[in-house]
This record gives sequence, C-alpha cells and structure tokens, in this order.
Amino acid sequence: MPSSRSIPSIDALLQRPELRPALDRYGRTAVVDAVRAAADTWRRAPEGDAADAIIAAAGARLAAGDRASLRPVLNATGVLIHTNLGRAPLARGAVDAAAAVSSGYANLEYDLDAGGRGHRHQHAERLLVDLTGADAAVVCNNNAAATLLTLAALAAGREVVVSRGELVEIGGGFRVPEILAQSGATLREVGTTNRTRISDYAAAISDRTGLLLRVHPSNFRIEGFTERPALADLTALGRRFSIPVFEDQGSGWLGLDGGPAWPDALRAEPSVRQSLADGADLVAFSGDKLLGGPQAGLVAGRSALLDRLRRHPLMRALRADKQTYAALEATLRLWRRPPAWPEIPLVRMLLATTGEIGARAEAVANRLRPALEAAVVDGHSTIGGGSAPQSVLPTRLVAASSAAVSAAALEARLRASDPPVIVRVQDDRVLLDLRTVHPEGDDVVTQAILDAVALGN
Ligand SMILES: *Cc1c(COP(=O)(O)O)cnc(C)c1O
Repeated sequence: MPSSRSIPSIDALLQRPELRPALDRYGRTAVVDAVRAAADTWRRAPEGDAADAIIAAAGARLAAGDRASLRPVLNATGVLIHTNLGRAPLARGAVDAAAAVSSGYANLEYDLDAGGRGHRHQHAERLLVDLTGADAAVVCNNNAAATLLTLAALAAGREVVVSRGELVEIGGGFRVPEILAQSGATLREVGTTNRTRISDYAAAISDRTGLLLRVHPSNFRIEGFTERPALADLTALGRRFSIPVFEDQGSGWLGLDGGPAWPDALRAEPSVRQSLADGADLVAFSGDKLLGGPQAGLVAGRSALLDRLRRHPLMRALRADKQTYAALEATLRLWRRPPAWPEIPLVRMLLATTGEIGARAEAVANRLRPALEAAVVDGHSTIGGGSAPQSVLPTRLVAASSAAVSAAALEARLRASDPPVIVRVQDDRVLLDLRTVHPEGDDVVTQAILDAVALGN
C-alpha cells in the first residue's frame, strides 16, 4: 500500500510543465484545488504513477468545471415540446432579435418618441392583440406566473369556481389548487371528476365569487362518461352574474388559417382566438409551447382587467426580461405572415411529412448499416407540452440495434457524447425520430451512433 509519501508535494506537482497551460488558463487557486482533490482521490485508490495520474485527473477536473452545465443537445425523441429539453426551439429571427438587445441597451422602458420613461408592457402587445383578437395583453415570465398573477389580481380574498375535473397537476409540479391557494383566492370546487354541468357552476355562485376558472386539462384525459359545459355556456353564465371568466389554456395555439393545412392532431386544441370569441374575459397561455417562442406567460383579453394585472405588486416580480420581449415579438411577427410560418421550428416540425422524415431516416439508416442493424419503421411523434395526449403525429423512425452493444448502453453513450443525443429505447432497440432533429443535425446523430458502437462492449 503506497503511503502519502509516495505522492509528490503539491508544490512539486505545480512545477511540472504539464500544468503550465492550466495555470495560465484557470489561475493558481483553481489549479491547486484541483490537484489537491485529485491527490485525495488517488490516495484512496492508488493506481499507476502518482504524479502522472494526479496531473491527468486534475486536468480533467478543471476542464469539466469549465464546461457549461446548460448545453445544447440533439432531441431525437420525437417529442416536439419536450419540457426536459427546453421546450420550443426558437426561430433564427427570434434568436437574432434577443441577441441584438442583449449585447447592448434597448428601449425596454423608454419612449423613443417622447424621449422619456416608457413601459415594457407596450412591447409585443399590439402583435398579441392582432393575432388573438383581444383588446390588450400582458407578458410575464411563464404561464404559471400568468395564472398566479391573474388569480391574485382578480380574485384574492374571493372564491374561484372551478370544476373538479380540471383540478389537475401539469408537468413540472404546476398544481391548479396550489397556485390558486398561493394567489390568496379560495377554491370553490364544483361537479365531479368526470362530469360537471353548467348548473353546478350556477349553484356555486354567490356574492363571494370573484372568478370562474376554466383549465385546459393538459395531458390528462378521462374517457367514457364525461361532461363539461361549452366555454360559451360558461361565459354566458359569467356575464349574467357579472363575474369574469378566465381560461388557463396552456398550449397557446393560435389556430390561424391562411397558411399550410394543420395536422389533424391539433383539431383537439382550443385556440386563443376562439376562446376569446366564445366570451372568455382573459386567456392565459405559454410562449414556448405551440406558439414556438421563448419561455413566457401571456394573458390576452379585456383591457380593464389587464390593467388590474399590470398594477398588481406581483407584476413586478413576474415580469419578463428584454430578451424575452425581443424573441417573443420576432416570433409573433413570423406568425403574422403565413409564408413565414415554417421559419418557426415548431411549425416546421408539425408540418414535416412522413415522406420527408422517412427519406432522411433511410439516409441515416444506410450510413449506419455496416456498423449495426438499422431499419426504418412506422411510429409516432408526440406534440407534448400539455397538448392533448392523443395529439400524436405519424412519423418514420430509425430503429437501430447492435449485437455488440445493448440498446441501453448505446442510449447512455449517446447521452454522453458531445453534443449529447437523446433517444428513445424500445424492445432493445434505439429509436430515432428525426422530426425533432434539425436536418443539419442528421450527420451529427449518425456519427455519434457510429462512434458509440465503435467503442465496442
Ligand atoms: C403548461 C401549462 C401550464 C404551465 O405553463 P408554464 O409556461 O410551464 O408555466 C399551466 N397550465 C396549463 C393548462 C398548461 O398546459
């Protein structure tokens, strides 16, 4: 058992020429820390020459610490709005707009005409109004913030009537009853999990009622004996009692016509414009789901109610930053021009045909074949992001397997590659859905698999 005496002193190690570049790059303190940590590790499991092993391990430690924690990955899962992988990729124009305001100053709260203080609320509002038919709109951090702010501004200290069937938990721990409690409003549940009628809402209304809430059930579905009133019936009830109706729509589907035909999978999605036309006073939705923009929460609807949101103290805590406004406006400008829609990556992925995806899959499979078994098979992409669970798109998958490496090992190696490639595993095969990979990424994915297989067992 080697004693600590067989390890050169830290000072002696720091004199070694191999550490010179690290000292220049990271500075003495960081290198000393890394060498100490590497020496401790070596002492617990000594192997090979102490100095060489410690210097190599310290170098690796420093490089790992220098690598960003948040990195781009290739999403070959076929889940379009993948919450764990950062949801919607931004359009080039949105990235450029965010970069342009990031590297310098911007008129975020400055009125360029008057030459004085302006309001950040002005940005993106006109575009949101045009695209949804609302009177006005407010932008927050995300849709959870938008919902919290709306409930706090309109219903704190009062009752919010909501169907039991809509008291759901959405991915990432967004629980409708908990957000409601945080807003200071009181939950007034009506109906049952599977059936709620308009008469249930009517019976719950009293002078304590502040709001009627409607929640998109997201990726949750009850099958069979179910019922909930049409939104138009709920808004008619709200008008009769002068109580605003607020819909948390989540997905943010604009439902615009005039461009390419949308896939059937989106038929089940309510559109913001339709909900407002059906009489909803306010509709909240995410910026980075079906809108295909940056993380944001948007509330569209009546001016007078939105003024109350803007004036609420929480608005200050939940407001969006300049990069978000810039990327959001750029995305909304693309939505205003149907020929530009495919510039939004989410739209391009929604519209990609099985023919296009299949041709790319065949090309990838051909290049993989000498190294492993690769077939192109039918499958489904998932829209995700709280859209209806049956919202799937037919796709063509590359199904790859190797006698030498298990699918689980292949998946782990792809995840460890640079950039990481995230795939599905099924029946001991790795499944690649190129719908969610930018066509320029096909070669990277192919090479990553060839490299992973070449590592052998
Ligand atoms: C996704 C979703 C939310 C949460 O939105 P974030 O933008 O993630 O904050 C809230 N409500 C519904 C119905 C959703 O689908």
